Amino acid sequence: MLNYADRLNHGFFKTISQVCTQMNVKAFVIGGFVRDIVLGRPSKDVDVVVLGSGIAVASKVAEALGAGAHAKYFKSFGTAMVRDGDWVIEFVGARRESYRTNSRKPIVENGSLSDDQNRRDFTINALSLSLQSKDFGNLLDPFNGISDIEDKVIRTPLDPDITFSDDPLRMMRAIRFATQLNFTIDKNTFEAIGRNKNRIRIISQERVIDEMNLIVMAKKPSVGFRLLEETGLLGLIFPQFVALKGVEMMNGMAHKDNFYHTLEVLDNLCEKSDNLWLRWSAVLHDIAKPVTKRFEPKIGWTFHGHEFIGAKMVPGIFKQLKLPQNEKLKYVQKMVQLHLRPIVLAQEIVTDSAIRRLLFDAGDDIDDLMMLCDADITSKNEVKVKRYLKNFQLVRQKLKEVEAKDKIRNWQPPVTGEAIMETFGLNPSKIVGDLKSIIREAILDGEIGNNFEEAYAFLLEEGKKKKLHLKNLVNPPVKIIPIPDPIDGTPNQ
Ligand code: ATP
Ligand code: MG
Repeated sequence: MLNYADRLNHGFFKTISQVCTQMNVKAFVIGGFVRDIVLGRPSKDVDVVVLGSGIAVASKVAEALGAGAHAKYFKSFGTAMVRDGDWVIEFVGARRESYRTNSRKPIVENGSLSDDQNRRDFTINALSLSLQSKDFGNLLDPFNGISDIEDKVIRTPLDPDITFSDDPLRMMRAIRFATQLNFTIDKNTFEAIGRNKNRIRIISQERVIDEMNLIVMAKKPSVGFRLLEETGLLGLIFPQFVALKGVEMMNGMAHKDNFYHTLEVLDNLCEKSDNLWLRWSAVLHDIAKPVTKRFEPKIGWTFHGHEFIGAKMVPGIFKQLKLPQNEKLKYVQKMVQLHLRPIVLAQEIVTDSAIRRLLFDAGDDIDDLMMLCDADITSKNEVKVKRYLKNFQLVRQKLKEVEAKDKIRNWQPPVTGEAIMETFGLNPSKIVGDLKSIIREAILDGEIGNNFEEAYAFLLEEGKKKKLHLKNLVNPPVKIIPIPDPIDGTPNQ
């Protein structure tokens, strides 16, 4: 049996207790913090519910704690936040909530502790600990939350149809907690999600994506995606992902179920990387398989171009899911677009030039891309998996060698646009861009080395072919440092 009083050993718990005695009000620690004590997960976010004014107690507590503490008050919500070192303590008055059908914003009234526990989402989140001096640390567990923690079950304290219909975000939270904590969802609660799934439409996408990101960041996100799919929520919030599901058979040939394949890739990747955006790349890497699927009698099922079409779908999906419209989006697009390249290289005899092109296209994200590709090998055939992974090792080795030699990863054109214009007396024009591409292609193909001298000599040859006149041949020419492009900050190329 846990001694909860011992867990409330940080000084401010006693301070709150003393302040409440002076003010003659009662306060309780409630929710996630108590749950996490039982689970043995360290947390520094504390919710305190006060039978009275949360703001009044918070301000006295902040005063008593002195200089180290900072308080913030949210008058319109009747809440306050006190920071004490790296602890964050939120104070709120106990409330009773009643809901209308078209909004997740309830009508709020002052209430008792049990009203406040009734409005909590799950039994495991309704636990509370007394801060009164006479029974400090006493546990109040009206819905058997402790036994649900022991049984690893997510269950609503009241009728789940009411709990979910009142605030449909709780359906996402149920699945998110099940994924993070590796709990199952109680049958009755689970079925209520299915029945209430359409209510998710009243929740803003920002809140939905916050929960999805927590699922994606869990140790094994497939748990959450399976639950989202089984309850029908996934079809409402992310139908493109559900479209990956299913196996079609033709002339005795079947393709793999791309939904479960994607989840396997995602779980594989999550063992190696905590990068949210690489994880989203795994979610989306095969997203265009349904739209590119063909049956070719001689070959079987094909998904030609799914990496390109997939990359094109990424911006629309990011917009729909309210994921960021910035360089994270570009990164995911790049990962989706390139996800087959290392696999192709692993199957063929690898030329330096193919390696240089991959380094050029992936840039500094090459290691992430290789991680995604490793995760993408999900064959049941272990011999096949081993062979692929071994070939990937060769590709990795080759990437290292070529990079050491040619420095393509952070490639900057060795001859800048300015140098080209200066050399031939040109104004900014298409021909300058053409010459730059010709130089780049020659370097990637290995015709010339990735250095100024060879590139400049090559430029002069090309200039001659194009009958360009030399303005003044600087010999040896001075290398001009590339000027960053003012629009996106990358150097001109
Ligand atoms: P974590 O902080 O790990 O996400 P948590 O349980 O602390 O988990 P918070 O969102 O910080 O979650 O909420 C704190 C507490 O407030 C919860 O434990 C729960 O009691 C209550 N709560 C939060 N959101 C809801 C909701 N939508 N409906 C009912 N109760 C909620
Ligand atoms: Mg919390």
